[in-house]
Amino acid sequence: MDRIKCPFCESEDLRFKRNIVSPLNNKKYKHWFCKDCHLEFFTPLIFEKEVYIDEIDSSYKEFHKGNRAIPDWTDETIKILKNNFKIKDLSNKKILEVGAGDCINFVVFKKEFNISKENYYAIELDYKSVETCKKRGVVNIINEFFDEKILDKIKDKFDIILCLEVLEHQIKPKEFLDVCFKLLKEDGILIISVPNRDRFLIRFREISSSDIPPHHFLRFNKKFFIRNFKNKLVYIGCFNPDKYFYKSCKIVSKILFKNENLWPLSIPAVIFLIIMNKISPPSLLVILKK
Ligand SMILES: [Zn+2]
Repeated sequence: MDRIKCPFCESEDLRFKRNIVSPLNNKKYKHWFCKDCHLEFFTPLIFEKEVYIDEIDSSYKEFHKGNRAIPDWTDETIKILKNNFKIKDLSNKKILEVGAGDCINFVVFKKEFNISKENYYAIELDYKSVETCKKRGVVNIINEFFDEKILDKIKDKFDIILCLEVLEHQIKPKEFLDVCFKLLKEDGILIISVPNRDRFLIRFREISSSDIPPHHFLRFNKKFFIRNFKNKLVYIGCFNPDKYFYKSCKIVSKILFKNENLWPLSIPAVIFLIIMNKISPPSLLVILKK
């Protein structure tokens, strides 16, 4: 059997954390921490596109129907670009979105920054989500897996590459990020959002957020990006996406009482969670330069 190596830095200096059986596919996985780069990951690293296309994780139904609400990471990205980077207009900038999903970010960026459909490129593996993107007016869609081979298909360079809630799904993060940097213009920026593994009660909440394989294979925290991208880091911050109080009550009620209709009983637990999320926020936004 091959020795297990870190999929980011290739180190074999790993610490085994635990065995799990994923409720998404009933398969066994091992959870590791890399002592060199501080990535956490699950093995075997075998990508399963059925998670998305066959809606094994039920949230993808909303992608296919095109009625997903504006995600919190999109709101946070807009806020940081406006407040920290003083960006108002991106009409002449070339934007690539990797793992564009239902292209909801195209709709929001068009409204907020006046981006043009000619300058926006979406890469998306899930052909059902691609149909939603087309309905939203996206014209440059590449329905492919994102790896080195994509460099043969895309000859343009981009001012902004968006990878919102995409990196944690990868099985080859080093290749994924290298390809992103190759597609960036010299003064371009790469915007990444991922779940923050340093959040409160992660073990308790990983199932409800599907933060487990074969949906998510990788886990990040601030320390990982600061350690490995020190010279490229232009922004890093945590944020708290729990803006849906009622939805949170239903999720917590399902976990605690196995019945979401008992949601009023979970209100004290959700209030406690909101306070803890302020202290250890569940999401991370990172902006890197080339
Ligand atoms: Zn590593």
